[in-house]
Amino acid sequence: MAPTLKLNSGYEMPQVGFGLWKVDQATAADTVYNAIKAGYRLFDGACDYGNEKECGEGVARAIKDGLVKREDLFIVSKLWQTFHDEDKVEPITRKQLADWQIDYFDLFLIHFPAALEYVDPSVRYPPGWFYDGESEVRWSKTTLQQTWGAMEKLVEKGLARSIGVSNYQAQSVYDALIYAKIRPATLQIEHHPYLQQPDLVNLAQKEGIVVTAYSSFGPTGFMELDMPRAKSAAPLMEHAAIKEIAAKHKKTPAQVLLRWATQRGLAVIPKTSRPEVLAQNLDSTNFDLDSSDLEKIAEMDLNIRFNKPTNYFSADKLF
Ligand code: NAD
Repeated sequence: MAPTLKLNSGYEMPQVGFGLWKVDQATAADTVYNAIKAGYRLFDGACDYGNEKECGEGVARAIKDGLVKREDLFIVSKLWQTFHDEDKVEPITRKQLADWQIDYFDLFLIHFPAALEYVDPSVRYPPGWFYDGESEVRWSKTTLQQTWGAMEKLVEKGLARSIGVSNYQAQSVYDALIYAKIRPATLQIEHHPYLQQPDLVNLAQKEGIVVTAYSSFGPTGFMELDMPRAKSAAPLMEHAAIKEIAAKHKKTPAQVLLRWATQRGLAVIPKTSRPEVLAQNLDSTNFDLDSSDLEKIAEMDLNIRFNKPTNYFSADKLF
């Protein structure tokens, strides 16, 4: 079982969890079930991943079979951008909870700090970026402050125990801290040796916000999408420095990449559909990198971001 981190909401969050992006609907229920069997307790989902119903089936089966109780699990989901308007937040959260077959999220995050015009779930779900499902981006005028207010109501109503943000940069974190009645419990960001964002991590940690690293393996997670930027980057697990550190500690490169984050107080949510790799990723917190390892990894920062809209579609659709 993974160690836990204490959130500013008072709840404990597992430091190693399981990421559900790109887990297809056909395998999601079994994947979640097997991950619970392997010892995972935190699941990182989202409306946008299009598999919450199937993930919920995996959870329900695990509970029915007596593998876990609901309170043993830490289920995370995210508010998609088309639901930022204040009156849309609660209804969509209730739909997402129904898909998961649960009555509260342990943590609910604003997925991206950019509001899009509402798309009714009966028209298209998940809605994605485009209003017409193809190419038209329509921005909403709802501010992040208004959306955060609606997120706070989810806590008041017991629909989310903790709330947080994702893909915020320093400015939006500082801004949220000014208006928040409930401070963000976590900040989920892309974080790997090629995109370290040390100032953002420091500021969040100093403000008592737990940082969750996503895409800990850098380009690897984006190769599945055939993303040219990811395909042209050197795979982190084959990087000479990472391999050398792994050999020194008798660990795998993946374990080194995860430990680099968890040793510095971050949570991680790696994704794999291979059963043999599940255990390896969970079992990545029982060794420490030394200062020379940390220095070598610090030197690898290239400030390369894989998860940005313009890596998925051309910028002229956005502006
Ligand atoms: P990841 O960094 O976890 O990499 C996944 C890839 O690495 C897969 O191809 C997998 O087969 C491979 N892999 C996993 N463990 C391995 C191991 N031990 N050895 C060798 N290969 C291994 O990728 P990710 O999916 O980009 O990120 C993880 C999770 O983070 C997502 O599933 C999602 O939950 C979350 N996420 C959030 C956002 C956001 O905007 N908030 C964006 C991206 C991802």
